[in-house]
Amino acid sequence: MNWNMHIIMTMFFILGGAFLVMNAGILNLGDYSVLLALFVVFAALGSLLPDIDHKDSKITRIVHSVSLIIALGAALIFGGTLAEKAVLFGILFIVVGIAMWFFRFIFPHRGFVHSLTFGVGVSAVLAIVLYIFGEGVGITEAFVIFVGTLAGYESHLICDGYIIPKLI
Ligand SMILES: [Zn+2]
Repeated sequence: MNWNMHIIMTMFFILGGAFLVMNAGILNLGDYSVLLALFVVFAALGSLLPDIDHKDSKITRIVHSVSLIIALGAALIFGGTLAEKAVLFGILFIVVGIAMWFFRFIFPHRGFVHSLTFGVGVSAVLAIVLYIFGEGVGITEAFVIFVGTLAGYESHLICDGYIIPKLI
């Protein structure tokens, strides 16, 4: 399943979940539109994350693009002469490339990264990092980020055919 299908299926699951919650009268979701938006955004991200263990996935390309921008920014800020900036940029870019390759070497496609345990870990780390460093991220937002990311992650695993999630 490709990346846009993973996002669509995740949104489909969220709509179903929201429908059930509203119908059961548990919550009036309209009162929580900001948190709901946060949930949807992180679920979309979570639905892409598992394929970070694949060389040609959308999320791998996003990570490469973002690291390119960060490497360029760092080189411009910390490099001295133009040549030094260029060398620094090259080194940073190669380091990220090697790190990503090494990650895929340790975690082959659809191995541990495609497990519930990894999903819980990644979602927790993301929520904690954003709680500590994110502007306006309180404990409630962090919790929504955690559950949203995990929901998207789990949706990806289900769509990949792991109906009963693998623990490792
Ligand atoms: Zn996958």
